[in-house]
Amino acid sequence: MSSNRMSIETDPTFFDGGCTCRFVRYRMTARPLFVHCCHCRWCQRETGASFALNALIEADRVQILQGEVEVINTPSNSGKGQNISRCSRCRIAVWSTYAGAGDAIRFIRVGTLDEPDRLPPDIHIYTVSKQPWVVLPPDVPAVAEYYRASERWPRESLERRAVILARSRP
Ligand SMILES: [Zn+2]
Ligand SMILES: [Zn+2]
Repeated sequence: MSSNRMSIETDPTFFDGGCTCRFVRYRMTARPLFVHCCHCRWCQRETGASFALNALIEADRVQILQGEVEVINTPSNSGKGQNISRCSRCRIAVWSTYAGAGDAIRFIRVGTLDEPDRLPPDIHIYTVSKQPWVVLPPDVPAVAEYYRASERWPRESLERRAVILARSRP
Protein backbone atom coordinates (compact mmCIF):
# COMPACT_ATOMS: atom_id res chain seq x y z
CA MET A 1 0.00 0.00 0.00
CA SER A 2 1.48 3.35 -0.99
CA SER A 3 1.93 6.07 1.57
CA ASN A 4 -0.40 8.19 -0.51
CA ARG A 5 -3.19 5.60 -0.23
CA MET A 6 -2.60 5.48 3.55
CA SER A 7 -3.11 9.18 3.85
CA ILE A 8 -6.46 8.93 2.08
CA GLU A 9 -7.68 5.95 4.12
CA THR A 10 -6.77 7.53 7.42
CA ASP A 11 -7.94 11.04 6.54
CA PRO A 12 -9.76 12.17 9.70
CA THR A 13 -11.68 14.78 7.77
CA PHE A 14 -15.41 14.41 8.33
CA PHE A 15 -18.20 16.41 6.74
CA ASP A 16 -21.52 16.01 8.55
CA GLY A 17 -24.91 17.02 7.25
CA GLY A 18 -28.60 16.27 7.28
CA CYS A 19 -32.12 17.21 6.32
CA THR A 20 -34.22 20.10 7.59
CA CYS A 21 -36.30 18.17 10.17
CA ARG A 22 -33.07 16.57 11.49
CA PHE A 23 -34.40 12.99 11.19
CA VAL A 24 -31.63 12.19 8.68
CA ARG A 25 -28.03 12.79 9.70
CA TYR A 26 -25.11 11.62 7.56
CA ARG A 27 -21.33 11.83 7.45
CA MET A 28 -18.88 12.00 4.56
CA THR A 29 -15.80 10.23 5.88
CA ALA A 30 -13.35 11.78 3.41
CA ARG A 31 -12.90 14.83 1.26
CA PRO A 32 -15.03 14.67 -1.90
CA LEU A 33 -13.52 13.58 -5.21
CA PHE A 34 -14.62 16.84 -6.82
CA VAL A 35 -17.27 19.52 -6.33
CA HIS A 36 -19.59 20.53 -9.17
CA CYS A 37 -21.47 23.77 -9.44
CA CYS A 38 -24.06 22.87 -12.09
CA HIS A 39 -25.90 25.61 -13.94
CA CYS A 40 -28.09 23.33 -16.08
CA ARG A 41 -31.80 24.03 -16.32
CA TRP A 42 -32.60 20.73 -14.60
CA CYS A 43 -30.61 21.72 -11.50
CA GLN A 44 -32.17 25.17 -11.57
CA ARG A 45 -35.65 23.63 -11.57
CA GLU A 46 -34.85 21.02 -8.90
CA THR A 47 -33.36 23.57 -6.52
CA GLY A 48 -35.76 26.36 -7.42
CA ALA A 49 -32.66 28.52 -7.67
CA SER A 50 -29.77 29.26 -10.05
CA PHE A 51 -27.47 26.25 -9.71
CA ALA A 52 -26.85 23.08 -7.73
CA LEU A 53 -23.73 22.41 -5.69
CA ASN A 54 -22.81 18.72 -5.54
CA ALA A 55 -19.87 17.05 -3.81
CA LEU A 56 -19.00 13.78 -5.55
CA ILE A 57 -17.87 10.98 -3.24
CA GLU A 58 -17.74 7.18 -3.11
CA ALA A 59 -21.01 5.73 -1.73
CA ASP A 60 -19.07 3.72 0.84
CA ARG A 61 -17.61 6.93 2.25
CA VAL A 62 -21.08 8.17 3.21
CA GLN A 63 -22.52 6.88 6.48
CA ILE A 64 -26.11 7.40 7.57
CA LEU A 65 -25.71 8.27 11.25
CA GLN A 66 -29.42 8.50 11.96
CA GLY A 67 -32.81 8.24 10.22
CA GLU A 68 -33.50 6.83 6.79
CA VAL A 69 -33.72 8.06 3.24
CA GLU A 70 -36.31 7.28 0.62
CA VAL A 71 -34.98 6.89 -2.92
CA ILE A 72 -37.11 8.58 -5.58
CA ASN A 73 -36.46 7.88 -9.24
CA THR A 74 -36.61 11.22 -11.04
CA PRO A 75 -36.17 12.16 -14.71
CA SER A 76 -32.78 13.59 -15.66
CA ASN A 77 -31.10 15.48 -18.47
CA SER A 78 -29.46 12.29 -19.82
CA GLY A 79 -32.85 10.59 -20.17
CA LYS A 80 -31.60 7.74 -17.98
CA GLY A 81 -32.96 9.13 -14.71
CA GLN A 82 -31.43 9.94 -11.38
CA ASN A 83 -32.18 8.48 -7.96
CA ILE A 84 -32.69 11.23 -5.42
CA SER A 85 -32.35 10.22 -1.76
CA ARG A 86 -34.73 12.22 0.41
CA CYS A 87 -35.49 12.28 4.11
CA SER A 88 -38.45 9.97 4.51
CA ARG A 89 -40.16 12.54 6.76
CA CYS A 90 -39.44 16.09 5.52
CA ARG A 91 -38.51 15.00 1.94
CA ILE A 92 -35.48 17.24 1.72
CA ALA A 93 -33.00 15.80 -0.82
CA VAL A 94 -29.58 14.94 0.60
CA TRP A 95 -27.91 13.23 -2.38
CA SER A 96 -28.43 11.82 -5.85
CA THR A 97 -26.97 9.05 -7.96
CA TYR A 98 -26.94 9.16 -11.76
CA ALA A 99 -26.93 6.49 -14.43
CA GLY A 100 -23.60 7.74 -15.76
CA ALA A 101 -21.61 7.30 -12.55
CA GLY A 102 -23.78 4.51 -11.14
CA ASP A 103 -24.61 3.87 -7.50
CA ALA A 104 -20.94 3.88 -6.54
CA ILE A 105 -20.67 7.68 -6.57
CA ARG A 106 -23.05 9.90 -4.64
CA PHE A 107 -23.65 13.53 -5.48
CA ILE A 108 -24.00 15.05 -2.01
CA ARG A 109 -26.00 18.28 -1.90
CA VAL A 110 -23.47 20.63 -0.36
CA GLY A 111 -26.20 22.88 1.02
CA THR A 112 -27.27 20.05 3.36
CA LEU A 113 -23.86 19.98 5.08
CA ASP A 114 -23.53 21.64 8.48
CA GLU A 115 -20.58 23.64 7.12
CA PRO A 116 -21.21 24.06 3.39
CA ASP A 117 -18.64 26.84 3.16
CA ARG A 118 -15.91 24.19 3.44
CA LEU A 119 -16.66 22.84 -0.05
CA PRO A 120 -16.63 25.57 -2.69
CA PRO A 121 -16.90 24.45 -6.35
CA ASP A 122 -13.91 22.88 -8.13
CA ILE A 123 -15.61 23.53 -11.48
CA HIS A 124 -18.67 25.25 -12.93
CA ILE A 125 -20.51 23.12 -15.49
CA TYR A 126 -23.31 23.80 -18.00
CA THR A 127 -22.52 27.49 -17.94
CA VAL A 128 -24.32 27.61 -21.30
CA SER A 129 -27.54 28.00 -19.26
CA LYS A 130 -26.05 29.99 -16.38
CA GLN A 131 -28.40 32.73 -15.24
CA PRO A 132 -26.82 35.95 -16.45
CA TRP A 133 -26.71 37.69 -13.08
CA VAL A 134 -24.52 34.93 -11.63
CA VAL A 135 -20.93 36.15 -11.95
CA LEU A 136 -18.33 33.38 -11.81
CA PRO A 137 -14.97 33.85 -10.08
CA PRO A 138 -12.13 34.06 -12.62
CA ASP A 139 -9.92 31.53 -10.80
CA VAL A 140 -12.33 28.54 -10.89
CA PRO A 141 -12.59 26.43 -14.08
CA ALA A 142 -15.85 26.74 -16.01
CA VAL A 143 -17.10 24.71 -18.98
CA ALA A 144 -20.04 25.25 -21.32
CA GLU A 145 -21.37 21.73 -20.72
CA TYR A 146 -19.52 18.75 -19.22
CA TYR A 147 -15.85 17.72 -19.07
CA ARG A 148 -13.54 14.70 -18.76
CA ALA A 149 -12.58 13.77 -15.21
CA SER A 150 -9.17 12.63 -16.48
CA GLU A 151 -8.43 16.22 -17.53
CA ARG A 152 -9.73 18.06 -14.46
CA TRP A 153 -9.68 15.92 -11.33
CA PRO A 154 -6.64 15.91 -9.02
CA ARG A 155 -4.48 12.77 -9.18
CA GLU A 156 -5.69 11.50 -5.78
CA SER A 157 -9.30 11.66 -6.92
CA LEU A 158 -8.53 9.84 -10.17
CA GLU A 159 -6.83 7.11 -8.15
CA ARG A 160 -9.89 6.77 -5.96
CA ARG A 161 -12.09 6.67 -9.07
CA ALA A 162 -9.94 3.89 -10.55
CA VAL A 163 -10.63 1.78 -7.45
CA ILE A 164 -14.39 2.20 -7.96
CA LEU A 165 -14.18 1.38 -11.67
CA ALA A 166 -12.11 -1.74 -10.98
CA ARG A 167 -14.70 -2.89 -8.43
CA SER A 168 -17.65 -2.35 -10.75
CA ARG A 169 -16.15 -4.46 -13.56
CA PRO A 170 -17.42 -8.06 -13.61
ZN1 LIG B 1 -36.08 15.36 7.44
ZN1 LIG C 1 -27.29 20.21 -13.48
